[in-house]
Amino acid sequence: MTEEGNRKLSLTKIIPAHKKTILAQWCQREFGVMSSKFRAFRANVGGRVNMNSCYWCKRPHLDGEMMALASFVRLGNRTLCQKCAKELIEGTGGED
Ligand SMILES: [Zn+2]
Repeated sequence: MTEEGNRKLSLTKIIPAHKKTILAQWCQREFGVMSSKFRAFRANVGGRVNMNSCYWCKRPHLDGEMMALASFVRLGNRTLCQKCAKELIEGTGGED
């Protein structure tokens, strides 16, 4: 590899934000309360899926917080915060 005057070759463009919609088969709004026990349990059963935070908005679940669980098409079970679960169940997410 030759370095012609350290010139970097690059292309840059701005990609417009796109809408993402995922479908769920069901949602259990009161799945369980986040606690250190739950974290330990998840770690034991092989936490391939991160359940320490809301799958959709990525906000971490706090101890004592009620988590929701939803089964998403092609994704499987993911935990959600109450706000996102509400959106999912009540269809306030803005997509038909
Ligand atoms: Zn959320």
